[in-house]
Amino acid sequence: MKMSDFRLGLGTWMPGDNPKLYKTEKEVIKQAIKSGLKVIDTAEMYGAGRSESLIGDAIKSFKRKDIYLVSKVYPHNAGFKSMERSCLNSLKRLGTDYLDLYLLHWRGGIPLEETVAAFERLKSKGYIRGWGVSNFDADDMEELWSIKDGSKCIANQVLYHIGARGIEYDLIPWLQKHNVTLMAYSPLASNLSYRQEIIQNENIKSVAQKHNATVYQIMLAFAFRHPNTIAIPRTSSSEHLSENILSLNIQLDKQDMKLIDSAFPPPTQKTPLGII
Ligand code: NAP
Repeated sequence: MKMSDFRLGLGTWMPGDNPKLYKTEKEVIKQAIKSGLKVIDTAEMYGAGRSESLIGDAIKSFKRKDIYLVSKVYPHNAGFKSMERSCLNSLKRLGTDYLDLYLLHWRGGIPLEETVAAFERLKSKGYIRGWGVSNFDADDMEELWSIKDGSKCIANQVLYHIGARGIEYDLIPWLQKHNVTLMAYSPLASNLSYRQEIIQNENIKSVAQKHNATVYQIMLAFAFRHPNTIAIPRTSSSEHLSENILSLNIQLDKQDMKLIDSAFPPPTQKTPLGII
């Protein structure tokens, strides 16, 4: 299974934190997999491992090969020795013996060369099938490509939604040129001030109306419209999950993009990478 085969996955930052929601959250993960959303994104950071444990519990009844598991290592654990320890802990919580994709959560103090060597070692030991990065801007990617084995990176997970389009200027073209999958995080603008602006916008509402869709579905269709891109919305609601899956049927046309562009213009210059 390749991640580039998918346009939508499931984010899991926060699920697992509230015991009262545990059962529902577990069912939503199972529903996602049954409905074909096979890419599940987590991190050792999320709920200090509780997200990974919840996923491990939810996926028990599925065949491992039918799920594409993504986790992330803290920057301070991305050293040659520390990464293996972190990875084994993630595997234990997830109840599996390999990750499909392991990401460096963001850049920290450990030299990239060491992190790349650690990823490659985990790959050769069979603990991970592939590795990538997160919150890397175009200059970080250039630097990564300049070091030994750096170009073995297969994905970069960054913030991307209708109200945060900075990466269209240089990062998206860079990733496409180098065949690196873009994982769009917070595609529904979990930052509420951004979100309010988007969902109340008349242009976005009219695009939604034309497609007989919700503005959230339009936000997802916007995020995964580029080739080799996957959006990873989070939801703990069965209804929202079904709605999000239906967004896969939406293809935005030139007229839609014109309306979106006039409300939320694409960047005309370099913009720092967003994180919320
Ligand atoms: P998001 O997916 O943009 O938004 C999640 C919010 O949207 C939740 O409150 C959810 O509430 C709501 N929602 C989902 N579907 C909806 C629908 N159809 N209609 C209305 N509301 C809907 O937020 P996110 O969690 O920030 O980002 C997604 C994932 O990206 C994370 O979970 C995580 O896996 C990853 N991420 C990575 C990084 C990084 O640094 N690499 C940073 C942030 C996030 P309900 O539960 O009620 O549906």
